[in-house]
Amino acid sequence: MKRMITTSVEETMDLATRFVRSLPPTSTIVALSGDLGAGKTTFAQGVLRACGATPPYTSPTFTIMKEYVIPGGVFERVIHCDAYRITAQDMLELGWEEMIAAQNTLIVVEWSERIAHIMPQSAIPIACAVVDDTRRAYTMREKL
Ligand code: ADP
Ligand code: MG
Repeated sequence: MKRMITTSVEETMDLATRFVRSLPPTSTIVALSGDLGAGKTTFAQGVLRACGATPPYTSPTFTIMKEYVIPGGVFERVIHCDAYRITAQDMLELGWEEMIAAQNTLIVVEWSERIAHIMPQSAIPIACAVVDDTRRAYTMREKL
């Protein structure tokens, strides 16, 4: 595992860009864990920007999930979800199985630890943490 420290929102967005470029162009799930304020939404917004999704990249804390269709993108569809207010059962009822089986789709899940048992083995975990006021730590797989 490697631990990357960012010192600003923009640096976190840049880290997310490098992360997206390291991904194979096949359906992928990114599992973001960590407390409130750890920088999950910021990282997800960087992923959305790197994928060419059309802003605004509103946090799905209340809406649970937001889908971006990106014609001609490396990923044709990016789904940004937040499991903070829901259970794994809710996620299944929202069509989780179909979502994760879809082609050419990147799924980014905040609070993935809340629905850990429905996350596939292939999901890429990224643990987010507050270091101090301006620094956030992202712990991710070595290869990426
Ligand atoms: P979460 O989704 O984990 O609750 P957010 O991304 O919504 O976290 O919020 C992160 C907060 O931390 C924002 O208010 C942001 O301005 C602040 N912040 C400070 N430093 C950083 C950094 N290095 N990376 C990302 N966010 C940071
Ligand atoms: Mg968030």
